[in-house]
Amino acid sequence: MKIDLHCHTTASDGTLTPKQLIDLAVDQEITTLAITDHDTTAGYEQAYDYAKQNELQLIVGTEISCQWRGHTIHIVGLDCEVDNAVLQAGLKQNRLKRWQRAYQIDQKCKALKLDGVLDEIMPLTEDEMIGRNHFAQVLIDRNKVKSQQQAFDKYLKKGKPLYAEVDWPSLQEVVGWITGAKGIAVIAHPHQYKMTSNKLNKMIEDFMEAGGQALEVVNQPRPSADQIGMAERTVRFGLYASMGSDFHRPEHTWRGLGWLAPLPYKCQPVWQLFKSPVAP
Ligand code: AMP
Ligand code: MN
Ligand code: MN
Ligand code: MN
Repeated sequence: MKIDLHCHTTASDGTLTPKQLIDLAVDQEITTLAITDHDTTAGYEQAYDYAKQNELQLIVGTEISCQWRGHTIHIVGLDCEVDNAVLQAGLKQNRLKRWQRAYQIDQKCKALKLDGVLDEIMPLTEDEMIGRNHFAQVLIDRNKVKSQQQAFDKYLKKGKPLYAEVDWPSLQEVVGWITGAKGIAVIAHPHQYKMTSNKLNKMIEDFMEAGGQALEVVNQPRPSADQIGMAERTVRFGLYASMGSDFHRPEHTWRGLGWLAPLPYKCQPVWQLFKSPVAP
């Protein structure tokens, strides 16, 4: 079996359509996939029939933005009931916040003499989810920067001229949406939050108290110190372990769909909690 439980499509800030992503998954011989678009389940919904035709096990997924002690945190929800009203209302609220931020960023663009940025992005978003990656792409297209990374470093990250704050819901609230929809809450890329070890452990305690069950342990093909640290935490806290590439686009040569090291020894695989067993 080959599993990837974190990736993106054009339903959020990825560049492949859900169908193209399924084609790639089949090509990579992935057997169980969760599409986890930011603040929406549209990626899953659009891919559902096509995944079935291709005999690929598709798990309901989404990656939800929230906040904890001033940090923006991403929580992946897996195997949720996709039509749960509270979950869908929460996701919709987050997408609305994204649009409000997008108008603010567009104003900031105008102050930098970058006109018509939002108008250029609109056709790409299907009126659904808008993210900073969409702005990064315009900055690349207009030769302001050479790469996505540079767009964030020079313009879009905290402290830079196009940054606008979002008042995301709390970690506890978002975990509640997921568990209320009978899903599994997973802390996405826990090594990315630039927290001290103590602070990360405190967040894990709050996450577990709210009903969270798993940490994303494996994100890349090679084992790393971060990976070992997270694997140890799952054992210490009694959490399940997830694995996902966070794939966004084929041009990323260092990050591919399904390019993942096996779960470290002693980790409890999160897919043991899925309602239907994963394909062997
Ligand atoms: P948003 O949720 O719209 O605020 O944007 C967050 C997304 O931007 C992440 O999911 C990544 O896809 C992307 N991102 C964040 N930081 C960077 C970075 N430093 N370089 C490239 N992409 C980034
Ligand atoms: Mn993203
Ligand atoms: Mn993320
Ligand atoms: Mn992601």
